[in-house]
Amino acid sequence: MTAQRPPAFPWPDGYRAAASFTFDVDAESCVLAHDPGAVGRMSLMGHQAYGPRVGVPRLLELLRRQEVRATFFVPGYTAECYPHVVEAIVDGGHEIGHHGYLHEQMRGIDESTEARYLDRGLEVLERLTGARPVGYRAPWWEMNWHTPRLLVERGFAYDSSLLDDDVPYRLGTADPQAPALVEIPVDWALDDWEQYAFFPGWTGSGVIESPDKAVRMWSLEARARHAEGGCFVLTNHPFLSGRPARAAALEGLVEEVKALDGMWVAPLREIAEHADRVCGPARVHTKPDIAAAQ
Ligand SMILES: [Zn+2]
Repeated sequence: MTAQRPPAFPWPDGYRAAASFTFDVDAESCVLAHDPGAVGRMSLMGHQAYGPRVGVPRLLELLRRQEVRATFFVPGYTAECYPHVVEAIVDGGHEIGHHGYLHEQMRGIDESTEARYLDRGLEVLERLTGARPVGYRAPWWEMNWHTPRLLVERGFAYDSSLLDDDVPYRLGTADPQAPALVEIPVDWALDDWEQYAFFPGWTGSGVIESPDKAVRMWSLEARARHAEGGCFVLTNHPFLSGRPARAAALEGLVEEVKALDGMWVAPLREIAEHADRVCGPARVHTKPDIAAAQ
């Protein structure tokens, strides 16, 4: 048995690590952004609609039983299609975050196009919830080098799309006078898409993992991050993890994570607020200079 390392990150008093359960309510939007013609595929649309229709209510009940508050990232289009789902999430005491308007593909797009997507999503969430979201998660976790500045300009407090640390940090922009964001990093190994997603002609290899295997992998990561004083951020999609056996397995994981000694389980917004108080100087990421390497 090796000794546990002391916490590397200054979590609030009494806590040695943090965990957040997050849900990306992509629904139909993530399909339609790639292929508007997929709207003609009734079964595929229904597969995605299962998330808000069945998955979210089941997951909200799970969270209520476990007395855990979570963060739900909702594309503006999903929110417009299912306003009652947004209302139920808010009524459950959970956080709503920004996740694009139509879950647009952000890779390689220019600033003005990305700004338009951000503003459209903001307008919808603000109109439906009465509050401006403070958290952003890029569709497909795809950030551009200009994205942090666009987020700062719109008053976001945090982002949760980058994959370059185990704990939150302050994410700056090229302008040292501008406010900085808090970044709460994610990890593809802590996402249910790779475990469960399959629809012929849309996504997945056809291999659908057992919830036992998925939750075992996530549990190992939660325990390792707890031991190191890290931040465990799990990303689930209601159209995937809202299915019965997966939700049951997830509930077991929630119970296990809550029981870890000194584990702070909170919505990302609260983790970001704490990080904003304790994080040191901002890191400013710069684009690698590929020309110099050639
Ligand atoms: Zn998404």
